[in-house]
Amino acid sequence: MLSAADGRLGMEIIRSQRPDIIITDLSMPNMNGLEVVEAVRALDKNLPIVMLSGNGMLDDAMEAIRLGAWDYISKPVRDLFELEMIVNRCLERARLLSENKSYQTNLEQLVTQRTAQLAKLFKAVEQSANSVIITDINGAIEYVNPKFSQVTGYSQDEVLGKNPRILKSGRHPEQYYRELWKTISAGKEWRGEFSNLTKDGKLFWELCSIAPIRDETGNITSYVAIKEDITDRKAYEERLLYQAHHDELTGVFNRYYLQSYLELQMEIMNRNNQYLTVMLLDIDNLKFINDTFGHEFGDQLLKEVANRLKKVCGNTYIVSRFVADEFIVVPPLSENADEPRSQAETIRSALNNVFVINGTEVVATASIGVVGYPEDGECVETLLKHAEATMFQAKKNGRNSIAYYTRELSNSLQYRFELATRLHHALERNEFMLNYQPQINMETGQISGMEVLLRWQPENGKSIPPDIFISLLEENGHIVPVGEWVLWHACSQCVEWEKQGLPPLRLSVNISAIQFIRSDLDETVQRVLRTTGFKPTQLCLELTESILMLDSAKTIARMQTLTSMGITLSLDDFGTGYSSLEYLGRLPIKELKIDRAFINRMLTTDNDSALVNTIIAMGHGLNMELVAEGVETAEQLAYLIDKKCFTIQGFLISRPMPAEEFKQFMDQWTPQSAGGYLIKN
Ligand SMILES: [Mg+2]
Repeated sequence: MLSAADGRLGMEIIRSQRPDIIITDLSMPNMNGLEVVEAVRALDKNLPIVMLSGNGMLDDAMEAIRLGAWDYISKPVRDLFELEMIVNRCLERARLLSENKSYQTNLEQLVTQRTAQLAKLFKAVEQSANSVIITDINGAIEYVNPKFSQVTGYSQDEVLGKNPRILKSGRHPEQYYRELWKTISAGKEWRGEFSNLTKDGKLFWELCSIAPIRDETGNITSYVAIKEDITDRKAYEERLLYQAHHDELTGVFNRYYLQSYLELQMEIMNRNNQYLTVMLLDIDNLKFINDTFGHEFGDQLLKEVANRLKKVCGNTYIVSRFVADEFIVVPPLSENADEPRSQAETIRSALNNVFVINGTEVVATASIGVVGYPEDGECVETLLKHAEATMFQAKKNGRNSIAYYTRELSNSLQYRFELATRLHHALERNEFMLNYQPQINMETGQISGMEVLLRWQPENGKSIPPDIFISLLEENGHIVPVGEWVLWHACSQCVEWEKQGLPPLRLSVNISAIQFIRSDLDETVQRVLRTTGFKPTQLCLELTESILMLDSAKTIARMQTLTSMGITLSLDDFGTGYSSLEYLGRLPIKELKIDRAFINRMLTTDNDSALVNTIIAMGHGLNMELVAEGVETAEQLAYLIDKKCFTIQGFLISRPMPAEEFKQFMDQWTPQSAGGYLIKN
């Protein structure tokens, strides 16, 4: 306990010692009680002050209370117990006040802390790289963050109170959303992907996690959805998927997709009343086009072919690129077997229209093989193998045609494969031989020349027809060395005959398109003429129309090189291709050979006789030599002579013969012999 004699001293003690309670008199020298109360209150609001007041000073005591004293007691203090009570009460109040103060301080700190945390949390949500949506228990939106607006294009105001289904793209089935609601209303978290639409209708993808929020009692009060924009990733995935299913060059489906598509169709189709048809198309002259114009040009053509196929077939057909220049078209399952088949004809004729690539016109006809499931193959692999065999049949039928599968074809594919293997060694095993077929000018009765024809007689086997093995030689490229062999042997033979006393004859040699384009034909011919001593003016090269389909500078230049050497160029099997009259006139070609098929039918079919007449008139108009091939009857001969086509070749006069026989034929022939074949009126 500290005491002071007057108010001022009292204040000094209070300032320096800070007592627990102050008991002060009202009237004191230097500083009265009221002044002390004021001074103490300025110092500390909660320091207990008890005022001692004399009798009749109640007003002053009340004033002291007003100024901040907590209690008063009258002087003289007789009841110490009362004083103790007052002091205790004051001390208790001071303690409570002090406690309250620290409690309040704590509370204030807590509130500040929480506010800061909340602000941080809010900032995190507001600035999150993910969209955040909070909905009430019914799915009505209560909050969206700026990222949401950025992704969807909807402002917060536009979506508040609305359901997130406003973003629905319709890509997910209703079941998907039902599962979602079932999960979250059961209090569990749902995770999944959404394809949604932005406000302006753009599709985007989100990876979404939706979780329920519960109150203290455990009831779900709202849902929070956190969504990550995965559009880029999805686009990448879709691109990968696209690449896995599509042909890079043409953009149509690839073979992997086709195979799985066919497997699926085979599973789902009803075999009793549905038909699954597969058409395999092979572009007839892509090899030549690549060789002539380069692969980039060929690629461009393939793209155009793919586009045309898509256009002709429409969306319900599957168009795919199978390999290199082969496409496969699968019509939708049909209840009418003939319907997809008639489409094959539509496709074939659509491809007959010229393609214009970089300003150059080219023809890209297709040979089409058509097969049906299950009758033509019980699984995808067999079906496609048979489709390929059927396509080869179409090629054999003269290209630009359609063939349907027959069982014999399957064997023929096997057969072709075996032949190709044997053909590989035919040259070194000396299995090739040459036959010569005379060409007679019926006007003069003279033998004007002969065509040399290649024959293949494999060891321990019967001879193979040229239409089969020549196409095999072309496929594997062997036609180039074999062609050179033919040229060399035939020229040597002719030189030999001349030495034996035969008159100089013109020799016609067939040149395959592959040989013309792929090899250095002009150099080869020059070399052969040089080494054999055969005269270029006696040599005629028979080219096929497929060479002419390629209007390339290279083709024409090569033709000119050959003719400048003195060689004659002839166009073989004329009438089967697409040569235009105008184009033909610009080429250094001196002779047209009318295809045997037209000669064969010209007396029975109006079309063919008209065609033969046209070709003859055309030949005369262009001042070209004409040779009719495959003349077998006197009636055909008479018709041709009537049309002034005098040079003929065919069984009527002679079949192709080996060298010795040809020599005998020549020895026996006189101009009068020709008369024997004419119909005597
Ligand atoms: Mg020929």
